[in-house]
Amino acid sequence: MKKQRIVHKVTLIPGNGIGPEVIAAAHSCIDATGVAIKWDVQRTGVGPSTDNNIPALSAALLDSIQKNKVALKGPITTPVGIGMRSVNVALRQTLDLYACVRPCRLYPGIISRFDNVDLVLIRENTEDLYAGIEYDCGTSETTELIEWVKKHGGKTLQNDAAISLKPISARASERIIRFAFEYALKNGRKMVTAVHKANIMKYSDGLFLKIFRQVAAEYDGKIDHRDQLVDSLCMQLVRTPECYDVLVLPNLYGDIISDLCAGLIGGLGVAPGINLGSDLAVFEPVHGSAPDLAGKNIANPTASILSGVLMLRHLRELEAADRLEAALKVVLKAGDHVTADLKGSDSRQHPVVGTQQMAEAIISNLTGNEGEIAQTGANHA
Ligand code: ATP
Repeated sequence: MKKQRIVHKVTLIPGNGIGPEVIAAAHSCIDATGVAIKWDVQRTGVGPSTDNNIPALSAALLDSIQKNKVALKGPITTPVGIGMRSVNVALRQTLDLYACVRPCRLYPGIISRFDNVDLVLIRENTEDLYAGIEYDCGTSETTELIEWVKKHGGKTLQNDAAISLKPISARASERIIRFAFEYALKNGRKMVTAVHKANIMKYSDGLFLKIFRQVAAEYDGKIDHRDQLVDSLCMQLVRTPECYDVLVLPNLYGDIISDLCAGLIGGLGVAPGINLGSDLAVFEPVHGSAPDLAGKNIANPTASILSGVLMLRHLRELEAADRLEAALKVVLKAGDHVTADLKGSDSRQHPVVGTQQMAEAIISNLTGNEGEIAQTGANHA
């Protein structure tokens, strides 16, 4: 008897800037695997004067993710000077997507200073300096806060200071640290490193470190663990990245070290990510909307395609995920159908191709789905 095909429902958010181009590339690669997906496309605006007044984060978009439980998302531009601090951060906070998982793996063919990078960065997504609790210079609230700090903390702040708060809670720390150890166990990883600056921020980072040590003790004998100051980590990562396995970090360090790690494996164009809540998963590239590249068919689609590979694994479409990753590897290794950012100084030896052409090259290297591509096209929303 023929096996019944599961039709997955997935929210597709093209986003803005280079988002629509890289997500279109990932969308076509995923469809070409033959996996049946009913896509629910949700568009996002960038401000009140453009995009026919589509809000940056609509109720329909949030509903769609909550209903489908899985989304593939491009970067959403945050309008300058109006609205939320970051639409991407607001989405993670609204849906309580507390864990950001960013695998950083160097693929053969990609130009890097290193031979072997295979680490996973796990970033807390909901608090820290990203909580958005800020007081502007010269306001009555800031003056009040400065007086409060003087009275209760014995510290005199400058009257013209702006202040941002850094909340780190026991609950959020335990949740992300436990997540990191469970991730390590499930994925055959050996070592979890907690990243902090607890020698200076004794209470906020100190709490993160204390909870790490408590949780880590439960995994003694199963997963190795250590902690490291964030400044020391930066130095060691650019010298010996092969010594790291799973990193778990509070939000801000996670953001900064993500870009550093992307630099180890070929740049932002190749770094995928997942934002996970208790039952929701949003797959998205690490990079932002890169307005300088938008609309030119030159952005690298690899980060979005790898996010798609991670999504297929999450949907338990393991064989399709492996095939798509293998096809991407062939194209990266050959190096003649890749975007300009992957060329380095080699660009005269090989021609550069556009975003869509790179996706087509990957699709032409996909094996095992002959005859199925046309069928999946019918499932598009
Ligand atoms: P955000 O504030 O959202 O992080 P940003 O503009 O600071 O956005 P990105 O949009 O992530 O940062 O990109 C920074 C630079 O990296 C871009 O200007 C671009 O040159 C490069 N870049 C980012 N994504 C890609 C990509 N997919 N392909 C090629 N280059 C990229």
